[in-house]
Amino acid sequence: MRKAKDNKNILKRYYRPTITTCPRCNTLLHRHWTLWDKYLITLDGRIHIFSLGYSCNRRRCSRVIYRSDEAEHLSPKGSSFGFDVIAQIGWWRFWDHRTLDEIAALLNAKCLPVSRRHILNLIGDFLALLRATQPAKIEAHRAYFKRHGVVISLDGMEPEQGNEMLFVVREANLDLTLVAETLYSSRADLISRHLLEPIKALGFRIRAVISDADKNIRRAVETSLPDCPHQACQVHCLCEAGAPIFEADRAMKTDLRRDLRAKLRPSSRALSQAPQDDPQSAVLMDYCEALRDALRADGISPFKLAGLKLYDELHRLEMSLRRCQKKRNTVSCLPCWTSRSSATNTLSLILN
Ligand SMILES: [Zn+2]
Repeated sequence: MRKAKDNKNILKRYYRPTITTCPRCNTLLHRHWTLWDKYLITLDGRIHIFSLGYSCNRRRCSRVIYRSDEAEHLSPKGSSFGFDVIAQIGWWRFWDHRTLDEIAALLNAKCLPVSRRHILNLIGDFLALLRATQPAKIEAHRAYFKRHGVVISLDGMEPEQGNEMLFVVREANLDLTLVAETLYSSRADLISRHLLEPIKALGFRIRAVISDADKNIRRAVETSLPDCPHQACQVHCLCEAGAPIFEADRAMKTDLRRDLRAKLRPSSRALSQAPQDDPQSAVLMDYCEALRDALRADGISPFKLAGLKLYDELHRLEMSLRRCQKKRNTVSCLPCWTSRSSATNTLSLILN
């Protein structure tokens, strides 16, 4: 069942117009009413936004309501996601080549849990914004393209099997998006008609194509741009080459997690029963928390390997615990150091 969002401790932010006096009579503007308010998800977290309307109280001034431009520019109309989140997701997807799962993990790390389906919708919003700015951007680089031609990269993603695919064609040297389209299928004729033909229609010399070497894309390039060199994208090749290592690392991480959780449970139980004022227990509680933290680490293909990171972290913690174990015979002057035996048992439980 879907849980209702807890809006109790959400930061409130009020937006007022930048002018404080009436442009006609120069008297102070007064607050009229709240024009709108909504819960907005931004990169800084969830915020309750209020846009306050101000007007002049004098009868001879027309009843114009002044509002904050900044509040109107925080998010697209009707969306509960800020432009900053949409732009960040678009950047991760098309410039950093992140997958939907990676984007979800990055958002989760920022305490913004967004579902895969919703990320896909936001990528659609990003592409719509991108499309709106394309003509002006292409025009700004017309002279460069006329002189040097264009090297295009063609990338497609199908986040959920059987759903629409998102395709983006970019100029590789300038990292400029030329065409962004959603296609219901990755058929070669559709790629050709909706992505490559509009690029040809721009009238610039197409010097080369870079793609993930998908067979439909290859066929479309052969049809629309028969004499154009076509190279496989190095990022895709690296990701695919790293996949077996990443999978092996993930399997190791799962085994380590399973074994450690089984050991951590009795240790935490023993520590929770230890006296509150026992300094050894407090230190061991910190170790347990550090272990739990290490278990939460996630990897990103192809280079960020969570299993190896967890293994290193466990080795470091083990060394530190063994140093503690060696020091256990150090004489302490603390009178409260009474339950040494129970804490020492817990220490052995974690180490073994
Ligand atoms: Zn006025």
